[in-house]
Amino acid sequence: MASIHLKNLGHRYPASGAESDNPYALNPLDQVWEDGGAYALLGPSGCGKTTLLNIISGLLRPSEGRVLFDGEDVTDLSTERRNIAQVFQFPVVYDTLTVAENLAFPLRNRGIDNATIEARVADTLSMLGLDARANERARSLNADDKQKISLGRGLVRTDVRAILFDEPLTVIDPHLKWQLRTELKKIHERFGHTMIYVTHDQTEALTFADKVVVMNAGSILQVGTPKELFDRPRHTFVGTFIGSPGMNVLSCTFDGTAAIVDGVRIALDEATLAAAQAQGLASTDAALEIGIRPESLQVIAADVNTANDTHCVNVEVVGVEDLGRHSLVRLRLGEQLLCALHPEGAGIPEAAALRIDPACTLLYADALLVEANNEPLLP
Ligand code: ATP
Repeated sequence: MASIHLKNLGHRYPASGAESDNPYALNPLDQVWEDGGAYALLGPSGCGKTTLLNIISGLLRPSEGRVLFDGEDVTDLSTERRNIAQVFQFPVVYDTLTVAENLAFPLRNRGIDNATIEARVADTLSMLGLDARANERARSLNADDKQKISLGRGLVRTDVRAILFDEPLTVIDPHLKWQLRTELKKIHERFGHTMIYVTHDQTEALTFADKVVVMNAGSILQVGTPKELFDRPRHTFVGTFIGSPGMNVLSCTFDGTAAIVDGVRIALDEATLAAAQAQGLASTDAALEIGIRPESLQVIAADVNTANDTHCVNVEVVGVEDLGRHSLVRLRLGEQLLCALHPEGAGIPEAAALRIDPACTLLYADALLVEANNEPLLP
C-alpha cells in the first residue's frame, strides 16, 4: 500500500478553458492521501473527479506538479508501472474466458505461481458471491455479475499500491449496491488497501469511506469524516451538497454580537462569536451567511414565551411536504426561505416560531466557515 502525495498539482487540458476565466480543470492543490485510507471523491458532474483519479492512476499527466507514492516520484510512470488496480464505471471483462479465468488474468500476467492464483481467485469469488458461477463463460452473465468480475479483477491482487474505483456501482441494481458497498468496506478492513472511490452519490460516499473528499469546480473544498462534513461543513457548498435536504444558507450581517437575517437577530455560540469578532466581521466587505441544518431546527407555536426567548424567531409556514417519518416544513424568515424537519404526526402551528440552537448555527464569510483558527479577513 502507499500514501499518495499530490504535490503542487494542477491540470489544464490543452486548448480548453481559453474562453473561461479559469483555465484549470483541476485548480492547484497540495494533498496527501494516507496509506491504507478509504477515501471517497465526491462532487457534482464536471467538478474534476475523473481528472484527479486519472492523474493518480497515470492515465493523465498533470500539466503541473508531481505525484508521489510513498515519497517516490511516479509522475512519469505508466499506470502499469505504478502498480495500482482500477475499476471503471462499465465492466471490463473478457467474454470468452470463464469467471475464474477473468479473475486469474491479472495474476497470471504478473507471473504469480498457480497455487497462489488458485487461492486468491477462490477467495475473491467467495467475497463477491460468484463461487457457483466460477466456470461459466463471462459472456453468459448479466451486467451486475459482469461488474462484479470487474471489481474482482481490481481486488484479486494483494500487492497493489492503491485501488481506484470510478463510479463502479453505476450499472449495478440498487439493492445489490448496498451489498457490494458493504463487501468493499469489509475488504478494506481486511486488507488495508489505499482505496479511492469516485462518486457523485453522497450515500455511496458516506457509507463507503472513512474520509470523504468533497470537490466542486475543480477544487477540493473539504476532506473529512462523514460526521465532520455533516456537522461542520467548512464551505457552504459542502453544507448544501451533503444532507437531504442540504443545509439552509441565509445571507446575513453581523452587528458584533449576533447574526442579523433581514432584521432578525440569530444568536451565535461563544466560539463563533469570538471568531467573528476577532476577524472584524462587523465591518467587512465579505458576503456573510449563516448555515443551519434542517434537522437542528425546531418548529414550535409562537407565543409569549418564544417572543421573549433569544433563541426563538417568528417564521411564516409556506408549505409542508410529507417525507414519511418526517415532514419537511418550508418556512420564510424575513425575505428568505429555509426548511426544517418536523416529526411526522406532530401538528404544524399556524403561528409558528423556530427554536434555533446557537451550537448548530454556523457562520460563513465568503462561503468559508468562520472558526477560531481562520486567518483574520481584515488586518
Ligand atoms: P463526471 O462526474 O461527469 O464524470 P467529473 O467530476 O469526473 O465529471 P471531469 O471529467 O474530471 O469531471 O471534468 C472536469 C472538467 O474538465 C470539466 O469541465 C470537463 O469538461 C473538462 N474536461 C474533461 N476531460 C477533458 C478533455 N479531455 N479535454 C478538455 N476538457 C476536459
